[in-house]
Amino acid sequence: MLELKNITKTFNTTGNPLDLRVALDNINLKINKGEFVTIIGGNGSGKSTLLNVIAGVVLPDEGEVIIEGTNITNLPEHKRSKFLGRVCQDPSQGTAGNMSIEENMALAMRRDQKKTLKWGFVKSDRKYFINKLSELNLGLEDRLNQKVGLLSGGQRQAVTLIMATLKEPKLLLLDEHTAALDPKTALTVLTLTNDIVSNHEITTIMITHNMRDALKYGNRLLMLNNGKIVLDVKGEEKKKLTIEQLLTKFEMDENIELSDKMLLSK
Ligand code: ADP
Ligand code: MG
Repeated sequence: MLELKNITKTFNTTGNPLDLRVALDNINLKINKGEFVTIIGGNGSGKSTLLNVIAGVVLPDEGEVIIEGTNITNLPEHKRSKFLGRVCQDPSQGTAGNMSIEENMALAMRRDQKKTLKWGFVKSDRKYFINKLSELNLGLEDRLNQKVGLLSGGQRQAVTLIMATLKEPKLLLLDEHTAALDPKTALTVLTLTNDIVSNHEITTIMITHNMRDALKYGNRLLMLNNGKIVLDVKGEEKKKLTIEQLLTKFEMDENIELSDKMLLSK
Protein backbone atom coordinates (compact mmCIF):
# COMPACT_ATOMS: atom_id res chain seq x y z
CA MET A 1 0.00 0.00 0.00
CA LEU A 2 2.72 2.50 1.05
CA GLU A 3 6.36 2.14 0.21
CA LEU A 4 9.24 4.42 1.15
CA LYS A 5 12.46 3.74 -0.74
CA ASN A 6 15.78 5.15 0.43
CA ILE A 7 14.21 8.31 1.83
CA THR A 8 16.76 10.85 3.01
CA LYS A 9 16.08 14.35 4.29
CA THR A 10 18.62 16.78 5.65
CA PHE A 11 17.79 20.21 7.04
CA ASN A 12 20.17 23.12 7.09
CA THR A 13 18.56 26.31 8.30
CA THR A 14 21.68 28.40 8.86
CA GLY A 15 23.63 27.64 5.70
CA ASN A 16 26.54 26.58 7.90
CA PRO A 17 27.58 23.03 6.97
CA LEU A 18 28.16 22.33 10.67
CA ASP A 19 24.43 22.84 11.27
CA LEU A 20 23.33 20.04 8.94
CA ARG A 21 20.62 17.94 10.55
CA VAL A 22 19.87 14.54 9.13
CA ALA A 23 16.16 14.11 9.86
CA LEU A 24 15.70 10.94 7.81
CA ASP A 25 18.59 8.66 6.99
CA ASN A 26 17.91 6.23 4.14
CA ILE A 27 14.49 5.03 5.30
CA ASN A 28 13.08 1.91 3.68
CA LEU A 29 9.59 0.94 4.78
CA LYS A 30 6.65 -1.01 3.40
CA ILE A 31 3.25 -0.70 5.01
CA ASN A 32 0.48 -3.10 4.06
CA LYS A 33 -3.17 -2.23 3.59
CA GLY A 34 -5.01 -2.23 6.91
CA GLU A 35 -1.89 -2.03 9.07
CA PHE A 36 -2.09 0.23 12.13
CA VAL A 37 1.47 1.34 12.81
CA THR A 38 2.54 3.19 15.95
CA ILE A 39 5.82 5.14 15.93
CA ILE A 40 7.88 6.10 18.96
CA GLY A 41 11.28 7.76 19.25
CA GLY A 42 13.01 10.55 21.13
CA ASN A 43 12.67 14.24 20.34
CA GLY A 44 14.13 15.06 16.95
CA SER A 45 14.40 11.43 15.88
CA GLY A 46 12.60 12.20 12.60
CA LYS A 47 9.04 11.03 13.35
CA SER A 48 7.23 14.16 12.16
CA THR A 49 9.52 14.51 9.13
CA LEU A 50 8.61 10.96 8.13
CA LEU A 51 4.89 11.80 8.20
CA ASN A 52 5.54 15.13 6.47
CA VAL A 53 7.36 13.38 3.63
CA ILE A 54 4.39 11.04 3.19
CA ALA A 55 1.96 13.99 3.29
CA GLY A 56 4.02 16.06 0.86
CA VAL A 57 4.66 18.85 3.39
CA VAL A 58 8.37 18.09 3.13
CA LEU A 59 10.03 16.86 -0.06
CA PRO A 60 12.81 14.33 0.47
CA ASP A 61 16.34 15.02 -0.80
CA GLU A 62 16.52 11.48 -2.11
CA GLY A 63 14.27 8.49 -2.39
CA GLU A 64 10.73 7.65 -3.45
CA VAL A 65 7.28 7.66 -1.89
CA ILE A 66 4.99 5.13 -3.54
CA ILE A 67 1.30 4.68 -2.79
CA GLU A 68 -0.54 1.74 -4.32
CA GLY A 69 2.16 1.41 -6.96
CA THR A 70 2.10 5.10 -7.95
CA ASN A 71 5.17 7.22 -7.36
CA ILE A 72 3.92 10.36 -5.57
CA THR A 73 7.33 11.68 -4.44
CA ASN A 74 6.81 15.01 -6.20
CA LEU A 75 3.03 15.25 -5.97
CA PRO A 76 2.10 18.53 -4.23
CA GLU A 77 0.54 18.40 -0.78
CA HIS A 78 -2.93 19.57 -1.83
CA LYS A 79 -3.19 16.79 -4.39
CA ARG A 80 -2.43 14.19 -1.71
CA SER A 81 -5.07 15.46 0.68
CA LYS A 82 -7.64 13.71 -1.51
CA PHE A 83 -6.51 10.36 -0.22
CA LEU A 84 -4.77 11.23 3.05
CA GLY A 85 -6.33 11.99 6.41
CA ARG A 86 -4.20 13.92 8.88
CA VAL A 87 -4.49 14.98 12.49
CA CYS A 88 -1.62 16.87 14.11
CA GLN A 89 -0.86 17.85 17.68
CA ASP A 90 -2.36 21.34 17.68
CA PRO A 91 -6.18 21.27 18.08
CA SER A 92 -6.48 24.63 16.30
CA GLN A 93 -4.87 23.35 13.09
CA GLY A 94 -7.21 20.74 11.67
CA THR A 95 -10.40 22.79 11.74
CA ALA A 96 -11.49 26.35 10.95
CA GLY A 97 -12.36 27.94 14.30
CA ASN A 98 -14.60 30.64 12.85
CA MET A 99 -16.75 28.14 10.98
CA SER A 100 -19.47 25.91 12.42
CA ILE A 101 -19.08 22.17 12.98
CA GLU A 102 -21.38 21.55 10.01
CA GLU A 103 -19.45 23.89 7.70
CA ASN A 104 -16.17 22.25 8.67
CA MET A 105 -17.60 18.81 8.00
CA ALA A 106 -19.10 19.93 4.69
CA LEU A 107 -15.64 21.09 3.60
CA ALA A 108 -14.09 17.79 4.65
CA MET A 109 -16.77 15.99 2.66
CA ARG A 110 -15.71 17.88 -0.44
CA ARG A 111 -11.98 17.63 -0.06
CA ASP A 112 -11.69 15.65 -3.28
CA GLN A 113 -13.46 18.38 -5.22
CA LYS A 114 -12.06 21.66 -6.44
CA LYS A 115 -12.05 24.26 -3.66
CA THR A 116 -13.48 26.85 -6.05
CA LEU A 117 -16.64 24.84 -6.67
CA LYS A 118 -19.66 26.28 -4.96
CA TRP A 119 -20.78 24.03 -2.21
CA GLY A 120 -24.09 23.98 -0.50
CA PHE A 121 -25.55 21.85 2.22
CA VAL A 122 -27.11 18.61 1.27
CA LYS A 123 -29.76 17.26 3.61
CA SER A 124 -28.44 13.72 3.45
CA ASP A 125 -25.02 15.08 4.42
CA ARG A 126 -26.49 16.61 7.55
CA LYS A 127 -27.90 13.23 8.62
CA TYR A 128 -24.54 11.63 7.95
CA PHE A 129 -22.75 14.29 10.02
CA ILE A 130 -25.17 13.79 12.90
CA ASN A 131 -24.59 10.03 12.77
CA LYS A 132 -20.85 10.47 12.73
CA LEU A 133 -20.88 12.99 15.59
CA SER A 134 -23.15 10.74 17.66
CA GLU A 135 -20.42 8.10 17.56
CA LEU A 136 -18.26 10.46 19.62
CA ASN A 137 -20.68 10.48 22.54
CA LEU A 138 -19.73 14.09 23.23
CA GLY A 139 -23.16 15.58 22.49
CA LEU A 140 -21.77 17.44 19.47
CA GLU A 141 -24.55 16.13 17.21
CA ASP A 142 -26.82 18.73 18.81
CA ARG A 143 -24.36 21.55 18.20
CA LEU A 144 -23.94 21.48 14.41
CA ASN A 145 -24.23 25.25 14.12
CA GLN A 146 -21.77 26.05 16.85
CA LYS A 147 -18.43 27.58 15.88
CA VAL A 148 -15.62 25.06 16.21
CA GLY A 149 -13.50 27.71 17.95
CA LEU A 150 -15.80 27.42 20.97
CA LEU A 151 -15.09 23.72 21.46
CA SER A 152 -12.56 22.35 23.94
CA GLY A 153 -9.24 21.01 22.61
CA GLY A 154 -10.40 17.42 23.01
CA GLN A 155 -13.73 18.03 21.27
CA ARG A 156 -11.89 19.79 18.49
CA GLN A 157 -9.44 16.91 18.00
CA ALA A 158 -12.39 14.50 17.95
CA VAL A 159 -14.07 16.58 15.23
CA THR A 160 -10.80 16.77 13.27
CA LEU A 161 -10.52 13.00 13.49
CA ILE A 162 -14.08 12.51 12.25
CA MET A 163 -13.35 14.97 9.42
CA ALA A 164 -10.13 13.18 8.48
CA THR A 165 -12.05 9.92 8.12
CA LEU A 166 -15.36 11.25 6.73
CA LYS A 167 -14.26 10.27 3.26
CA GLU A 168 -12.37 7.13 4.08
CA PRO A 169 -8.70 7.96 3.43
CA LYS A 170 -6.24 5.50 1.90
CA LEU A 171 -3.93 6.41 4.73
CA LEU A 172 -4.51 8.13 8.07
CA LEU A 173 -1.56 10.06 9.54
CA LEU A 174 -1.66 10.99 13.23
CA ASP A 175 1.18 13.07 14.70
CA GLU A 176 0.92 13.06 18.51
CA HIS A 177 -2.71 14.06 18.06
CA THR A 178 -3.52 13.61 21.75
CA ALA A 179 -0.31 15.13 23.19
CA ALA A 180 -1.92 18.50 23.92
CA LEU A 181 -4.92 16.99 25.74
CA ASP A 182 -5.38 16.16 29.41
CA PRO A 183 -5.00 12.40 30.15
CA LYS A 184 -8.74 11.69 30.37
CA THR A 185 -9.58 13.47 27.11
CA ALA A 186 -6.53 11.92 25.45
CA LEU A 187 -7.89 8.50 26.35
CA THR A 188 -11.31 9.37 24.89
CA VAL A 189 -9.77 10.54 21.62
CA LEU A 190 -7.42 7.53 21.46
CA THR A 191 -10.27 5.09 22.07
CA LEU A 192 -12.23 6.83 19.35
CA THR A 193 -9.23 6.65 17.02
CA ASN A 194 -8.87 2.95 17.69
CA ASP A 195 -12.60 2.32 17.05
CA ILE A 196 -12.64 4.25 13.76
CA VAL A 197 -9.41 2.67 12.53
CA SER A 198 -10.44 -0.89 13.41
CA ASN A 199 -14.06 -0.60 12.26
CA HIS A 200 -13.04 0.70 8.85
CA GLU A 201 -9.66 -1.07 8.66
CA ILE A 202 -7.98 2.21 7.74
CA THR A 203 -4.26 1.97 7.10
CA THR A 204 -2.88 4.21 9.84
CA ILE A 205 0.42 5.62 11.09
CA MET A 206 0.23 7.08 14.60
CA ILE A 207 3.14 8.88 16.22
CA THR A 208 3.05 8.94 20.01
CA HIS A 209 5.49 9.89 22.75
CA ASN A 210 3.73 7.45 25.04
CA MET A 211 5.25 3.96 25.03
CA ARG A 212 2.19 2.47 26.70
CA ASP A 213 -0.07 3.79 23.92
CA ALA A 214 2.38 2.61 21.26
CA LEU A 215 2.10 -0.90 22.72
CA LYS A 216 -1.63 -0.82 23.39
CA TYR A 217 -2.77 0.36 19.97
CA GLY A 218 -2.04 -0.90 16.48
CA ASN A 219 -0.53 -4.08 15.10
CA ARG A 220 2.95 -2.86 14.25
CA LEU A 221 5.42 -0.70 16.15
CA LEU A 222 8.37 1.26 14.79
CA MET A 223 11.04 3.02 16.79
CA LEU A 224 13.02 5.82 15.19
CA ASN A 225 16.38 7.13 16.28
CA ASN A 226 18.55 9.63 14.46
CA GLY A 227 16.43 9.32 11.34
CA LYS A 228 16.71 5.54 11.20
CA ILE A 229 14.23 2.78 11.94
CA VAL A 230 15.84 0.91 14.84
CA LEU A 231 12.94 -1.37 15.72
CA ASP A 232 10.08 -2.83 13.65
CA VAL A 233 7.83 -5.32 15.43
CA LYS A 234 4.56 -6.76 14.10
CA GLY A 235 1.61 -8.96 14.99
CA GLU A 236 2.04 -11.55 17.71
CA GLU A 237 5.55 -10.34 18.45
CA LYS A 238 4.18 -6.86 19.08
CA LYS A 239 1.42 -8.19 21.33
CA LYS A 240 4.08 -9.81 23.53
CA LEU A 241 6.31 -6.74 23.61
CA THR A 242 6.57 -5.04 27.02
CA ILE A 243 7.59 -1.60 28.23
CA GLU A 244 10.56 -3.23 29.97
CA GLN A 245 11.75 -4.68 26.64
CA LEU A 246 11.36 -1.31 24.95
CA LEU A 247 13.36 0.34 27.72
CA THR A 248 16.03 -2.36 27.49
CA LYS A 249 16.21 -1.71 23.76
CA PHE A 250 16.72 1.97 24.53
CA GLU A 251 19.34 1.23 27.17
CA MET A 252 21.25 -1.24 25.02
CA ASP A 253 21.73 1.34 22.37
CA GLU A 254 23.39 4.21 24.17
CA ASN A 255 22.87 6.46 21.18
CA ILE A 256 19.14 6.41 21.69
CA GLU A 257 17.97 9.35 23.72
CA LEU A 258 14.75 9.09 25.64
CA SER A 259 12.79 12.28 25.83
CA ASP A 260 11.59 13.38 29.27
CA LYS A 261 8.05 13.09 28.00
CA MET A 262 8.55 9.44 27.13
CA LEU A 263 10.03 8.63 30.51
CA LEU A 264 7.16 10.33 32.26
CA SER A 265 4.58 8.44 30.27
CA LYS A 266 6.01 4.92 30.51
P1 ADP B 1 10.43 14.35 15.91
O1 ADP B 1 9.07 14.54 15.31
O2 ADP B 1 10.82 12.90 16.03
O3 ADP B 1 10.60 15.06 17.20
P2 ADP B 1 11.36 15.89 13.61
O4 ADP B 1 11.04 15.04 12.44
O5 ADP B 1 10.46 17.02 13.91
O6 ADP B 1 11.51 14.96 14.91
O7 ADP B 1 12.83 16.46 13.46
C1 ADP B 1 13.94 15.69 13.07
C2 ADP B 1 15.15 16.60 12.92
O8 ADP B 1 14.98 17.47 11.82
C3 ADP B 1 15.42 17.50 14.12
O9 ADP B 1 16.81 17.65 14.27
C4 ADP B 1 14.77 18.81 13.73
O10 ADP B 1 15.39 19.88 14.37
C5 ADP B 1 15.01 18.84 12.24
N1 ADP B 1 13.91 19.54 11.53
C6 ADP B 1 12.63 19.09 11.36
N2 ADP B 1 11.90 19.95 10.62
C7 ADP B 1 12.72 20.98 10.33
C8 ADP B 1 12.57 22.19 9.59
N3 ADP B 1 11.42 22.51 9.00
N4 ADP B 1 13.65 23.00 9.48
C9 ADP B 1 14.84 22.68 10.06
N5 ADP B 1 15.05 21.57 10.76
C10 ADP B 1 14.02 20.71 10.90
MG1 MG C 1 7.36 15.50 16.04
